[in-house]
Amino acid sequence: MTEVNIKELLSTYDTENLTIATVCSHSSLQIFNGAKKEGFKTLGISVGEVKKFYDAFPLGKPDEFFAVDNYRDIAKYADELRQKNVIVIPHGSFVEYLGPKNFLNLQVPTFGNRHVLMWESDREKERVWLEGAGITMPKEIKDPRNIEKPVIVKYHGAKGGKGFFIAKTFAEFSKRVKHDKPYTIQEFVMGTRYYLHYFYSPIQDNAYKLTKGSLQLLSMDRRDETTIDEVQRLGSIAELEELGIHPTFVVTGNIPIVMRESLLPQVFRMGEAVVEKSLELFGGIIGPFCLETVVTEDLEFKVFEISARIVAGTNPYVAGSPYSELIQTDLSTGRRIAQEIRYGIKQNQLEEILS
Ligand code: ATP
Repeated sequence: MTEVNIKELLSTYDTENLTIATVCSHSSLQIFNGAKKEGFKTLGISVGEVKKFYDAFPLGKPDEFFAVDNYRDIAKYADELRQKNVIVIPHGSFVEYLGPKNFLNLQVPTFGNRHVLMWESDREKERVWLEGAGITMPKEIKDPRNIEKPVIVKYHGAKGGKGFFIAKTFAEFSKRVKHDKPYTIQEFVMGTRYYLHYFYSPIQDNAYKLTKGSLQLLSMDRRDETTIDEVQRLGSIAELEELGIHPTFVVTGNIPIVMRESLLPQVFRMGEAVVEKSLELFGGIIGPFCLETVVTEDLEFKVFEISARIVAGTNPYVAGSPYSELIQTDLSTGRRIAQEIRYGIKQNQLEEILS
């Protein structure tokens, strides 16, 4: 549990003069761009040298850089960051670089509910949450001897799909598995992948209404994963596996996508159920989150993962998506976060959206 007392942290803040900060990676260009559009000052936390590529993107470049020797040291600079009235926007790499424990204890106001980390990073708790919300997840195979259909083997904590592999039989599994790391075996769901980008506001009622606040769908993407997504250029997976070449699932980019409109009611029902359950379990998943899904040929959704903060899949939509354009023009997830903070300031409700 985090030992951060948000009320106390905010007590010294000049809320008319906030700075939006994040680590220079992942979705930082979009976060800085969105914050600037909403009139905030921006600060980029970077390790060592300032990253030169920001010069090429003036509208995504933070106003100021804050260099640290090591991301794990960010906590040491908490006082300094607070003096700058910093609100941290966590993204996937931010939590990864800082380490979950440091993140939970970081004494700087952070957008969203940090308690979600425990529910999202532990695959068993994640299942309790999502299945408790009535979401269908891929079946888990506890004993590899029971592998009868294609499965995907996922090592715990292996971010970005690294080391994951597909097996169709127990023999294939035994040949490839590394027993030195804990893993989960999941049914490999056949279908098409959609990564759904939601935004939940506990303080605004102007979208899809929930028991508290409301939900938006800002965009969706499909991840581009090497080598699985292009391996067929060389031959069928079966042919290649015979040669000892196995597909991998390492994310290299994100592709914009839209979904057939008739599936949208299901998309909202899933988002709603996940938020309602989160309110019950740990006070709510606040701000952006992503359900990573496969849609089967029967048009059923199977959710294999939830990401409880801004995902890099929102990056194609710096200038809005086919969905966010129907909310407001030029609305990225980064900008939506900045707007929520603006609204929180105006309504004196920052404590409801920060932790
Ligand atoms: P991240 O934390 O970056 O979301 P991760 O390392 O936790 O990634 P997953 O997102 O669970 O990994 O899986 C990586 C990729 O493997 C997915 O993007 C998807 O292409 C594929 N995948 C995962 N689970 C399944 C499944 N059950 N069926 C089919 N494909 C899957």
